[in-house]
Amino acid sequence: MRPCALVTGASRGIGRAVALTLAQEGWDICVNFLERSDAAEETAQRVRALGRRALVCQADVASETAVSAMVRRANEALGPVELLVNNAGISHQGLFQDTDAALWDRILAVNLTGARNAVRAVLPHMLSEKRGCIVNISSIWGLRGASCEVAYACSKAALIGLTRSLALELAPSGIRVNCVAPGCIETDMVRVLGAETRAMLVEETPLGRLGTPEDIAQAVAFLTSEKASFLTGQVLTADGGFIG
Ligand code: NAP
Repeated sequence: MRPCALVTGASRGIGRAVALTLAQEGWDICVNFLERSDAAEETAQRVRALGRRALVCQADVASETAVSAMVRRANEALGPVELLVNNAGISHQGLFQDTDAALWDRILAVNLTGARNAVRAVLPHMLSEKRGCIVNISSIWGLRGASCEVAYACSKAALIGLTRSLALELAPSGIRVNCVAPGCIETDMVRVLGAETRAMLVEETPLGRLGTPEDIAQAVAFLTSEKASFLTGQVLTADGGFIG
C-alpha cells in the first residue's frame, strides 16, 4: 500500500489547512481530532474531493495507547505513516501563579508528550524503511517566551528541543525532523482572544496582517518536499516578521 500522512489536530485551523495542502501534494491523510468529529469529517471530505483517501481518527494525542491504536488503524486502512505532522495543540492565557499543576501537566501532555507519542508510534515503520519525515508545529512564543502563557511557551520551546534532538538521532536512518514556528494565525485559538488583542497582534506584525492557516501549510509542505531534502533539525519561522 502507498504510504500516508498523519496530521494531528486536523479537524480545524492550521491542521486542516496542512491536511488539504498535503492532499494536493498527493498524500492520503489520516485526519486526527479530539472532539469535533463534524469538523474532522469535513476535512476528510475535502481531502477526498481532491482525489486522495482520508481516514478520520479520534484520539487524544496525550494518550500513548490511543495514539498507538490510531497509527495501527491508519496503517491498516491507508498504508504506513511516512509523514507525520504534530500539529495538535492547546493554549491557555493566565498568570503563571494561577496555572495549577493539573493545567500545567495537561498543556505539556498535549503539546509535547502528544508529539512524543506520535513519533514513537510511527517510528518502527520509518526506521525499518530508512525513510520518513516529521514536522512539529511549535510557535514564536516557544522561541521568544510569552507572558501569561508560560506553560504553552515552555511546551513549544521543548518541541524545538525535541525537533533538534530527534533530527540528530534519526538522520542516520534517513528520517528528517523539522519544525515550523508560526506567528499569529487567524484560527479559533487566536479568535478567542477577542477583537482588541487581535488588532494589537496585527499592529505588532510587520507585514500588517495575521497569518492564514494556508501560510503555515505552505511552510509545512516545503519542509516535507524534495526541495527540503537536505534540511533537518530546522525551525522555520512563519510570522510576518513578528519576532524579527
Ligand atoms: P485550533 O484552531 O484551536 O485547533 C486545534 C486542533 O487541535 C483541533 O483540530 C483540535 O481538535 C486538536 N486538538 C486539541 N487537543 C487535542 C488532543 N489532545 N488530541 C488531538 N487533537 C487535539 O488551533 P490552531 O490555531 O489551528 O493551532 C494548531 C497548532 O498550531 C497548535 O499546536 C498551536 O499551538 C500552533 N500554533 C498556533 C498559532 C496561532 O496563532 N493560531 C500560533 C503558533 C502556533 P478538535 O477540533 O477535535 O477540538
